[in-house]
Amino acid sequence: MYDYVFSNALIVDGTGRDAYRADVAVYSSLICLIEKPYSLSARHVIDKPDLVLSPGFIDIHSHDDLEVLRNPSLLAKLAQGITLDINGNCGIGLFPMPKDKNDLISLSEDILGLYDGPFSWSDYSSYAEMIEKSGTGINLGFLTAHSALRLAVLGSDYARAAGDKEIEEMCSLLDKQLKEGSLGFSTGLYYSPCMFADKRELLSLLSVVKRNDKLFSVHHRCEGDDIIESVSEVLNLASESGVRLEISHLKAIGRDNQDKIDSVLSMIESARKTGLDVRFDQYPYEYGSTSLFSLLPPDIQHLSRIEQRLAVSLDNEREEIKKEMLSPSGWDSIYSLVGPDDIKMLSLDSHHELEGLSLTQIGRMWNSDPLDALLDILSDETGRAVMMDVTESMENLKKIMRHPLMGFGTDSLFSSSSPHPRTRDAAMHLIRKFVSEDKILSLKEAVRKMSGENADRLRLKDRGYIREGMKADLVLFNAEKGVVDTVLVNGKAAILDGEYQKTLSGAIIR
Ligand SMILES: [Zn+2]
Repeated sequence: MYDYVFSNALIVDGTGRDAYRADVAVYSSLICLIEKPYSLSARHVIDKPDLVLSPGFIDIHSHDDLEVLRNPSLLAKLAQGITLDINGNCGIGLFPMPKDKNDLISLSEDILGLYDGPFSWSDYSSYAEMIEKSGTGINLGFLTAHSALRLAVLGSDYARAAGDKEIEEMCSLLDKQLKEGSLGFSTGLYYSPCMFADKRELLSLLSVVKRNDKLFSVHHRCEGDDIIESVSEVLNLASESGVRLEISHLKAIGRDNQDKIDSVLSMIESARKTGLDVRFDQYPYEYGSTSLFSLLPPDIQHLSRIEQRLAVSLDNEREEIKKEMLSPSGWDSIYSLVGPDDIKMLSLDSHHELEGLSLTQIGRMWNSDPLDALLDILSDETGRAVMMDVTESMENLKKIMRHPLMGFGTDSLFSSSSPHPRTRDAAMHLIRKFVSEDKILSLKEAVRKMSGENADRLRLKDRGYIREGMKADLVLFNAEKGVVDTVLVNGKAAILDGEYQKTLSGAIIR
């Protein structure tokens, strides 16, 4: 007897081919038979021919590293049909553990959020074991983060390039995590402390990635004025080292930079023609979200939180900071790229009353220049500060969404109480907005980007497609309305008829 049969299901199978009708039978953790409609029976028969059955969605860009320990169900992901996500992105992650845990905690808390439990793991194996012990609602994969490697080797003295011996040490740590099953290496050249790595350090680490045949994922240095130089930096790194490259959340930030996206896309296309294995991901929104402190100039970013707050409150330092933020020298100053109208407070631990307001609105309320208002907020902030910003035009977002090299990612952040909607709704939003409403993608193309394409990218042999013998990660949903009905994770119903089943059937993908 099968555990589940989806009867007469309309199957969009992740390959990009046309939808077809069949019965899909699940036994134990596997899709074990696909037959003509109404030919199979099972313990649970799901007969909803109006809904679409597709492979569970794969989110290739996520930040659930601590959320899975806080809330193992990961219901925010399940409820949008995501059955696997990849964490440790943007160079931000939790292993290997540095000698001083606080370095890692304070560097990552704006992105990964707070966590009361003991940071008791030392490496990828022990971190993964800890998750396995408390369970997970969805499958998870992890990249090894550059910032954790730098902290483990350089300690708090990380605002510099590493020396030969230190690079060697980082390489052997990276090698160990990859051998333990981490799926790749990520860096965030926009963020401290990754921004201080020189080319030699990066190429050495990438040679380890290459040797282990894993993925290199990068939040590149400048998504604004210098996007062309910045994308070419990572294309060169990948072609010199021969690694597979995933450019994270590809977009051009700022009104004046929207016309650069065509050149960026054609650079990536030509790199592929020369044999480079490069691809990119993006979340389906024209606005983004990150730490409010990351708006500060690079030479302030590496300071401790207390030093940062002091710097923005001292008159003469503040003047220097303002100058640098208004006319930045070779870095992305989001403030000047996006402008105060389009930077909104999402969550501020010390100024809850400002949540939802733009810097322009806050400036008006406080009778001050919006940039001063921003620096005043930062000088007051003793906890976490997360903002949302309009980054790109809808026209460009559509170009990216329908590009054949684009794979789906949410860039979900759970660090604030009112997160960017991408955290809870990215997958269904993509289908509602870009398939049903705007019709810039067909359903089969969208599903391919959200499943098979990402599985191939990650070299997963048993996920991402509806095929006999594959793991039964499945989502049944209303494609018109973008509503999830049923989700199976490794053959267990995590959501059934819209109801959460309190299962924790996810696994760590090594
Ligand atoms: Zn990022």
